[in-house]
Amino acid sequence: MARALESMAKTEALFREVNERIATAAGGFGSDDAEFVCECADPTCVDRVEVPLEVYEEVRSEPTTFILANGHEEGSIEKVVETRRRFQIVEKANRKVVAVVKKLDPRRVEPGLKPG
Ligand SMILES: [Zn+2]
Repeated sequence: MARALESMAKTEALFREVNERIATAAGGFGSDDAEFVCECADPTCVDRVEVPLEVYEEVRSEPTTFILANGHEEGSIEKVVETRRRFQIVEKANRKVVAVVKKLDPRRVEPGLKPG
């Protein structure tokens, strides 16, 4: 069970990495929104969600919040905190999962590490 949770968390962290690259590219083009991949726990999910970059940045500022296609939440590890017309924002609610996604946060600043 613990292993399944960890693998779900890793799947979501991987989708988040992909979205970080999408956000960077979209920002470079000066767009207001971008098509992101659904950050749900299903490794076979190929759904896309159109999210304003502003909202994406807000979600990403918290290591435990993720963007999902509507209805893709996994009740055992996360809770929906906001539902929009085309996507929803979830927050990790499981201690183990929170630990994994925090560790894998692409925006995590390593203590003592210089930027750049
Ligand atoms: Zn999904």
